[in-house]
Amino acid sequence: MTHDGATGAGPRIDADALQAAAVAAAPALLDAVRARIGTAGADALLVTAPANVRYLSGFSTPADGRVLVTGDGAWLLTDERYTVQAAAESWLAEQVIARDWLARVAELAAGQTLAIEAEHLTVAQRTTLERKLGSTVVPTEGLLRPLRMRKRAFEIAWLREAARITDVALTRVVDDLLRPGVRELDLALELERAMRAEGADGTSFDIIVASGPRSAMPHGVASTRRIEAGDLVTIDLGARVAGYHADMTRAFGVGRVAEPLRGWYRAVLAAQRAALLAVAPGATGVAVDGVARERLAEAGLAEYFTHSLGHGTGLEVHEGPSLSSRSTDTLEPGMVVTVEPGVYHAGQGGLRIEDLVLVTTDGHEVLSSTPKDYREFG
Ligand code: ZN
Ligand code: ZN
Repeated sequence: MTHDGATGAGPRIDADALQAAAVAAAPALLDAVRARIGTAGADALLVTAPANVRYLSGFSTPADGRVLVTGDGAWLLTDERYTVQAAAESWLAEQVIARDWLARVAELAAGQTLAIEAEHLTVAQRTTLERKLGSTVVPTEGLLRPLRMRKRAFEIAWLREAARITDVALTRVVDDLLRPGVRELDLALELERAMRAEGADGTSFDIIVASGPRSAMPHGVASTRRIEAGDLVTIDLGARVAGYHADMTRAFGVGRVAEPLRGWYRAVLAAQRAALLAVAPGATGVAVDGVARERLAEAGLAEYFTHSLGHGTGLEVHEGPSLSSRSTDTLEPGMVVTVEPGVYHAGQGGLRIEDLVLVTTDGHEVLSSTPKDYREFG
């Protein structure tokens, strides 16, 4: 039921070269961050959101790290558990190992107007920091979001590799295991094993395997339910590689699947393909979302598409830009987004089809390659 040694093929990417590219890109990134700090009316920024800590430093345990950026310096701050790791991984020139990191931030930023990430620093930490600084801080929200949305070449390479691993794992596991009697949980377990064996750090999120009536739940994490003939099975998964998150969904029939589910599949696939064609520089998140929603409305299914069309991925599985009716984003080359319409009908079931897509200078490139034409297994 399993493939020996998973592959033995080894990584398809040159991890050392990508790491070197990240290090080489760090000074320009810090310049861009300093420009953003200026727009916030501050001189320095304390970064505490884990994905942003990793973005700026390369530190792979960012929940236990912080980054301070001032006009002429940038530091990774962490504690004694990470002395060796921080020195090995961080591409910032200086590391500070300190339990009382708020005190060190106050020393390093003394006399400067310090911005904080209001969505991540706790109220207690802010109070302590202001007392140690002797001045008030400047709360900011989403300050680094515009930078994070536009991926640099090495980030796109990591996302491409994460998408490849996701494709390999899904194809292998459904071919081997998808049939009546298998439990959703066992599919999820094998998918995770296959992704890790192919080179993933881990999974982007808890794998969704939603079969039969459970497929009416957009986020039905794998359960002990045994798949039955006649089920539509939605599988949403992603490999995480070097901190970068892939995200893809496919739906499959097991045995003969009846109407109306087959019709829903055709409608969702048509909406997904139409929305993909709309992904290009200059397209707004509202417009691309609207394309899928209109297609589903033509099929009489608009009310069953209950979430937004897509989201950016990167160092977080959900990040900017947003493809939704409330989006304020416009697509630009280098952005990586998902396109994932779905239909969910309580009591009957549903499905979603999701690809990872790169916005290019003249349109888009779909990074997911698992076929989307309807297939039945078992
Ligand atoms: Zn997904
Ligand atoms: Zn998604």
